[in-house]
Amino acid sequence: TDFTSLGLAAPILRALEEEGYTTPTPIQAQAIPSALEGRDVLGIAQTGTGKTAAFSLPLLHRLAADKRRAQPTGCRALILSPTRELASQIHDSIKSYGRHMGLRTALIFGGVPENPQKRALANGVDIIVATPGRLLDHIGTRHCRLDGLEAFILDEADQMLDRGFWPAIRRISAMLPKQRHTMFFSATMPEAIASLAKDLLREPVKVEV
Ligand code: AMP
Repeated sequence: TDFTSLGLAAPILRALEEEGYTTPTPIQAQAIPSALEGRDVLGIAQTGTGKTAAFSLPLLHRLAADKRRAQPTGCRALILSPTRELASQIHDSIKSYGRHMGLRTALIFGGVPENPQKRALANGVDIIVATPGRLLDHIGTRHCRLDGLEAFILDEADQMLDRGFWPAIRRISAMLPKQRHTMFFSATMPEAIASLAKDLLREPVKVEV
C-alpha cells in the first residue's frame, strides 16, 4: 500500500511526495483509514514509529475537505503535547505536510513571552499545537477559546501523566465540544491512561505497533 491509495487530499499528497514519503508506516497504515472515516483512534505507539503523521495527515485532510474559518480567538483543531520540544516538532511536521493548504497555526508553550502567542491566536487558527499549562493561561485571559473545536489530539498521554498535567488535561477536555473527532496516543497504556482514554474517546479503533 502507498499514500496515494489512502484517499488523502491532493495538496497533502503533493507535500508527502516532496518529503519523499512513499509508504505509510504500520501505525499510519492502521490509523489513517479509520481516522478518515471519522472514527476516534486510540494509538499505542512510541516516538519514531511515524505517529505524528498518523494523526496529522487525517487531521489535515479533514480541514482541507471542509474549508471553514475559525472564529476570532477560536481554533478548529487542538493538538496537546507534554513538552515544548515535542510541540515544536509536531508543529514543524504540520507546517510541512500542510504547506500547500494555506493553514493558520499557532505553537503555544510556556517559558517564553505570551504576547506573540496572543497575536497568533487573535484572528483564530486552524490548528493549535500546545502544552497544557500555557494553553490554559491563554484560555483564562480569553485569548483562546475551544468551543468551536472540531478535532482534538492528545499525544504522549503517559508523558502527560508523568509530568503532572492530568488536572490540566481534565480542565481542557471539559471545555471541548462533545461532538468532535478525537485521537489519543500513548507509548504505554496503564490503568490511569486507559481510563482517561475511555472518557475522551467514543468507540475508538485501537491501533498498536
Ligand atoms: P515520529 O514517530 O512521528 O516522530 O516520526 C519519526 C520520523 O519518521 C520523522 O522524522 C518523520 O519525518 C519520518 N516519517 C514518518 N512517516 C514516514 C513515512 N511514511 N515515510 C518516511 N518517513 C516517515
